[in-house]
Amino acid sequence: MKYNRILLKLSGEALMGDRQYGIDPKRLAEYAAEIKQLHDKGVQIAIVIGGGNIFRGVAGASNGMDRVQGDYMGMMATVINAMALQGALEDTGMQTRLQTALKIEAIAEPYIKRRAVRHLEKNRIVIFGAGTGNPYFTTDTAAVLRGIEVDCDVILKGTRVDGVYDSDPEKNPNAVKYDNITFDDVLTKGLNIMDTTAFTLSQENKLPIIVFDMNKPGNLLKVCEGATVGTTVNI
Ligand code: UDP
Repeated sequence: MKYNRILLKLSGEALMGDRQYGIDPKRLAEYAAEIKQLHDKGVQIAIVIGGGNIFRGVAGASNGMDRVQGDYMGMMATVINAMALQGALEDTGMQTRLQTALKIEAIAEPYIKRRAVRHLEKNRIVIFGAGTGNPYFTTDTAAVLRGIEVDCDVILKGTRVDGVYDSDPEKNPNAVKYDNITFDDVLTKGLNIMDTTAFTLSQENKLPIIVFDMNKPGNLLKVCEGATVGTTVNI
């Protein structure tokens, strides 16, 4: 295996499957099966999940809601997704722990770095919920932050597209995909991979990001084996 400890970032929208809102149990089960393939190979797995399928703070703010209130609602949405994913992972027999940045004692451990690392060492899957615990941040930033804190080898950003292109492949049929690209080139070419806070944090801490299609069966495992799948962003 090329990577021994990974941070998998899934967007909330990924959990919708073909639905317009919420969580598709079929999609959850598919993701759990993909993650199990990796777990069976002994890869240590941490996961951060978004909340966009349920609530986004900016969407609330655009309807007149207080932004900070909306962001906390968004963080709670990530906890709902995290619990759904936790259930699906445990259905396949894997051991998991949910740690949240906001304390919700009845359902999750509080985020404690040392404890998270210990869980990973015991091959438990650790899901980090409630983002960073702060409004005005995203779950991409939470993913990079936790990835650095618990010493992951790489951030795996599972998306619907198979990598980073020089222009939008849905609009330009001649768009070219990068297998590898540097952080600096992403910035100079104005490509959009993560929000600036998350991206800069990753760059400054030399933590590579791989953008790949999570909906293609076997991809997650291939990425960890070091196959050229998706786009790797590195220094
Ligand atoms: N959020 C936040 N702080 C964080 C992470 C998330 O305030 O550290 C809120 C924010 O309102 C965001 C929502 O939670 O819109 C859902 O997260 P995100 O948009 O990152 O989810 P994704 O796009 O990955 O589904």
